[in-house]
Amino acid sequence: MDAKLINTLNLAKETKFYFRYKKTLMRIINENDENQRIRRYIQEIPLITKDDILGHEQDLIPKNLRQRIILTCSSSGTTRGIGSLTYYTEYELGYFMKLSEKIHNNLTEKKISQNASILVIVPFTLTAIGIIVLMQMLHMKYNTGFIDSKTNPRKIIDIIRRLRPELIKTTPDIFYNLIEYSLKTHSNFRLADYKLHIQFTGNVISDSRKKQLNELLNVEISETFGVSEFGGPLGGMCVYDDGMHFYASEEMLVEIHSFDNKDVWLLHDLKDTIRGKLVATPLYRQGMIFLRYFTDDIVEVIPGRCPCGVPYPKLRFLGKIQDCFRRPKDGIIITPYDLENKLLDTDPSIWEFKLYVAERKKRGKLLVEYIDTPQISIGDLLGIISDYCGLKIVIEKKKLGRILRFKPKRRRIIKV
Ligand SMILES: [Zn+2]
Repeated sequence: MDAKLINTLNLAKETKFYFRYKKTLMRIINENDENQRIRRYIQEIPLITKDDILGHEQDLIPKNLRQRIILTCSSSGTTRGIGSLTYYTEYELGYFMKLSEKIHNNLTEKKISQNASILVIVPFTLTAIGIIVLMQMLHMKYNTGFIDSKTNPRKIIDIIRRLRPELIKTTPDIFYNLIEYSLKTHSNFRLADYKLHIQFTGNVISDSRKKQLNELLNVEISETFGVSEFGGPLGGMCVYDDGMHFYASEEMLVEIHSFDNKDVWLLHDLKDTIRGKLVATPLYRQGMIFLRYFTDDIVEVIPGRCPCGVPYPKLRFLGKIQDCFRRPKDGIIITPYDLENKLLDTDPSIWEFKLYVAERKKRGKLLVEYIDTPQISIGDLLGIISDYCGLKIVIEKKKLGRILRFKPKRRRIIKV
């Protein structure tokens, strides 16, 4: 780990972005004691945020590697809908191929056949994750099809029925649009008459949602996660369906920051389950050097050995920091993952929702849609949810498909 960190810091010296930290970087590189070096690193290197890099992506490329960039693709890596660019060297693409293969093999072990057909549904303006997924599937010699997610939903459903893929890789938002379309137009909205595997990436999926989709559609859900700015996939679901293994963690310096920013934990030191903000330094990167990049992601880390045998730490993706709010009565952070679990546990007929959290003393608003007849009254739902959130809210029931999904990622908690 230490040799990799020094290598990354040396590359960082060659970028425009880090010119201003050059002296600090030298001090850290020259430190003899490994623990001391890492401590210095997390104390002296300022965090980088999305706003720092947007439009300045080229400044993160080491000078002597400029010629070796073989791929540039747009990354959707922001909830604000502004794409940023990601640069890759051949080495990095190779790294992602291998990493993806590991994640994929573990996820699909004994579930998907060797010569399965796989359908990838992502935006045509490929995200970094999308293009890597596609290349990786082809590299692993899967029979892979690709559909632009902006294609008419009826067409997509027709293609799924005709091609009968074993696995569909897509994002929750794209998939929900398809389901909604089916629910509104067909009486039999099952996508397939066989066991279809769906692999999601890119947004929050709660346990209750997985259960709901499984009951509704008879599909098997799995999940992977990645950070577009870091180049692609980083981890995938445990076969026990309890969190995702962080396969890339040994090639990264991963920090978890407490919500109040007072504590910083290193992933590898963690002994207890903890929630916080994900800050990381990828040590495999060459094409773009990120030091202490604040990803906006809220995660729950589950340390310890997993009985499934995969040796990498586990985590759950809970949402973006912009989409969380602090519960007034006890200061607990409520994430989109928590809210989705709570809503769907309270009434499994709830489909889409959006919570507007108002400033102090003002009344917030919860929009809800149902896929079926509500199981509890709006009054009861109001009582349970306003108590859970510790907020004064009103509930507005919407017709199916009326709650708009923001692009590129749906936000379900909005502070107004
Ligand atoms: Zn496991």
